[in-house]
Amino acid sequence: MRVVALEEHFTIPSLTKRIDREAILRRGFPPPDVPFGPMVRLGELQELGEKRLADMDASGITVEVLSVAGPGADLLEGAAGVGLARDLNDNLARIVAEHPQRFGGFAHLPMMAPDAAADELERAVTELGFHGALINGHTGGRFLDDPRFAPILARAERLDVPLYLHPGIPPKAVREAYYDGLPGHLSFLLAIAGWGWHAETAVHVLRLVLSGTLDRYPRLQLIIGHMGEGLPAMLARCDQSMGPEAERFLKRPIGQTILEQVHITTSGFFTLPPFLAALHTFGTDRILFSVDYPFAANAKGRAFLDALPVSPADREKIAYGNADRLLRLKR
Ligand code: ZN
Repeated sequence: MRVVALEEHFTIPSLTKRIDREAILRRGFPPPDVPFGPMVRLGELQELGEKRLADMDASGITVEVLSVAGPGADLLEGAAGVGLARDLNDNLARIVAEHPQRFGGFAHLPMMAPDAAADELERAVTELGFHGALINGHTGGRFLDDPRFAPILARAERLDVPLYLHPGIPPKAVREAYYDGLPGHLSFLLAIAGWGWHAETAVHVLRLVLSGTLDRYPRLQLIIGHMGEGLPAMLARCDQSMGPEAERFLKRPIGQTILEQVHITTSGFFTLPPFLAALHTFGTDRILFSVDYPFAANAKGRAFLDALPVSPADREKIAYGNADRLLRLKR
């Protein structure tokens, strides 16, 4: 069975070393000895050849749609950010060109310069053949509902490509108020993969709904990972608690907007309870397989896919059919 995975990460240290180390630390990235810190997997993140392909082969992953793991160009202002994003995308395009049947690309955008980011998205899609963009959480403490990012949303909608909303490390004030003061590395882990990342991305989506942003871009499609970042279990609660107030401002109920404009992936979530919640809310047309390599294991993701309690036709939709349609992947 063809299997497409689309939350699969890489980095190119020879390019990202342009980012000031102080800016990386201020953004909250920990030193390499912190478990699950993004820099821990540097060896696998920067390997984009035989080892990665061998692991994909051994696990039955046909295609990885690649995206940059932070730190990235969203930490650099002006021309420096634009130049880094462009260089990362050009390098990714070369990697994809070497193995066009195995790799695809999501654009990396210079988020501090939204007009340039929209132009880079268009260049990446029309000239480099990429399939959308992946955005790592907030930029300078702002989510995509901030009007400054409107050019990026408008361009994605016009190009008819999805935006993958990935988590990022929370801003300092949030880290201090919500997560500090726990033993060992637990404050950092709770702020990221242990809880905070998922709450943050759900809030990101809800802000895009509640601000009316998705009503303004009704054809824009978003992708979120980690089995929907808790939203499948929370959709009815959101409509129940916020619906009466929200309907004064919005064209559609909150849950309806999310089910019309958000796709979810299985990245890093390989157990049945959250999948069943996703199945009963988003349904098989909006669930896409992903691993979150190298932060999760290809073999584990594939074993989970094979064991899903769904029909063969639905398994194929989740494995590749939905991704092929949404990303317009060439066979
Ligand atoms: Zn990820």
